[in-house]
Amino acid sequence: MATATLEARLEHLSVNDNDVHSQRSKASNSTTGSISVVGTSGQVASSHGRTNLLKFALQNHNENKSHQIPLSPRGKIQNSAMLPASSRDLSDEKENNYPLYEQPSMPKKFHLGMFEIGKPLGKGKFGRVYLARERSTGFVCALKVLHKSELVQGKVEKQLRREIEIQSNLRHPNILRLYGHFHDSKRVFLILEFAGKGELYKHLRKETKFPEWKAAQYIAQMAAALKYLHKKHVIHRDIKPENILVGIHGEIKISDFGWSVHAPNDRRKTMCGTLDYLPPEMLKSGPQENYYSQKVDLWSLGVLTYEFLIGEAPFEDTPVMTQRRITRGDMSIPNFVSPEARDLIKKLLVLDPEKRISLEDVQQHPWILKHCVKGERATKRSTGSRGTRS
Ligand code: ATP
Ligand code: MG
Repeated sequence: MATATLEARLEHLSVNDNDVHSQRSKASNSTTGSISVVGTSGQVASSHGRTNLLKFALQNHNENKSHQIPLSPRGKIQNSAMLPASSRDLSDEKENNYPLYEQPSMPKKFHLGMFEIGKPLGKGKFGRVYLARERSTGFVCALKVLHKSELVQGKVEKQLRREIEIQSNLRHPNILRLYGHFHDSKRVFLILEFAGKGELYKHLRKETKFPEWKAAQYIAQMAAALKYLHKKHVIHRDIKPENILVGIHGEIKISDFGWSVHAPNDRRKTMCGTLDYLPPEMLKSGPQENYYSQKVDLWSLGVLTYEFLIGEAPFEDTPVMTQRRITRGDMSIPNFVSPEARDLIKKLLVLDPEKRISLEDVQQHPWILKHCVKGERATKRSTGSRGTRS
């Protein structure tokens, strides 16, 4: 693709294009087609962006020949795919005197010029995502573009760093891969696995609720992915349909590791987004405040199962009431839900985290076994024998 076309594709990537709204409203907006790249403030910044991009493209072309990563000059692409995320500060270029680590498993040094940019796939709180293709291999991926100024403004640099650190080390057919990342003076780019069928949330809204066989297959894949995460001592903590993408074969891909942590952890004090998926132990105050374990993901799995089958979350209400109802476990399951599914929901939505059903038992639950061959049919079909499942 010519540089000019690349420019045209990216010209609306605006530093000021803030559009902060809730996951739920964002997701419902995007179902009405708001994902096209139309940032209103983008027009102001586009001429700047255009010049810079052109510069970067030219620089990249030249720097391509070199093995050295440019460490500090402003305006140059700084490749960080080979560096541990924790050793960098995304916002402060003074900290660029880090050592270079050679990681044989990650031989590629990424930069923007290596990618053809395709259609926009969507827009999140802090960035836009584009379909992209790595020029030399033809590898199709999703490129997420985040503006450093917005990351700083939103105070989410640490969160992003943790997200990168965690997600890039995960290999599971039901977890969205993060292949690498790089940055220039203004932006951070994440190279993500392309999820061909988009957001699960959109599918759910379109179908209102899923038939039991489909819900069971999704939950089985979720259980497999969570089992893998927990084995690696990672808690996702933000499981909900908005954070699940769908692959080309209909298999689910957990994404959005922005709130995930390596257990144990007591750092998190604030929450944002919907309350619907919050487990009761995260709402408690007093000495137990902020105490939670991997069991939080099991509660969210229960909320997810409920929402898949019923079409709305079990504690959906005003914020105050949602909170009250979660701490009481106050929900009812409609009659059209099968006894097996009802049983699983009740075993997941248990107030005492220690008494929730285990992921192993979820995988062996009669509702899962009834609808899934070995519990993970859709996964198997799409992944062959990579052996990453736990
Ligand atoms: P937030 O910033 O609140 O996390 P978000 O998760 O929706 O919101 P992004 O992760 O930036 O934001 O993604 C924006 C949208 O782009 C997604 O909702 C999805 O529709 C699309 N998208 C993101 N990543 C991919 C991907 N890897 N494959 C296909 N589509 C994607
Ligand atoms: Mg997201």
